[in-house]
Amino acid sequence: MDCIFCKIAQGIIPSKKVYENEHVLAFHDIQPAAEVHTLIIPKKHIASHNEWDTVDVALLGELMLAAKEVAKITGVTESGYRLINNCGADAGQVVFHYHIHLLGGQTLGGLVPN
Ligand code: 5GP
Ligand code: ZN
Repeated sequence: MDCIFCKIAQGIIPSKKVYENEHVLAFHDIQPAAEVHTLIIPKKHIASHNEWDTVDVALLGELMLAAKEVAKITGVTESGYRLINNCGADAGQVVFHYHIHLLGGQTLGGLVPN
């Protein structure tokens, strides 16, 4: 499958790794939108939030716990951070391999449509 984040998960495309375990990988976004901008992905290909199934509930939990680890590693646990998932066209999803954006390291703007 021609998926850029599957290739990153497989090490075919390099990334700046922040955290990894058996099922999850986190790496720096190539075009950071904040001082800290990390992407947290399942190694398994899940195209978008719409694709999550009941068989994946453990993996969903692992992603959330990985996000907590990434916050710790990037030093934003206490200062605060935002977790974002873009699902589909209106949200501006560009890469159709599920990912959570972790943004922080600075004051973030309000969460409003534009
Ligand atoms: P989306 O809009 O799909 O939620 O966000 C995709 C994100 O992936 C964007 O913030 C973009 O900068 C990032 N991205 C796209 N291609 C690459 C890549 O090859 N490497 C890394 N590290 N980030 C990427
Ligand atoms: Zn993929």
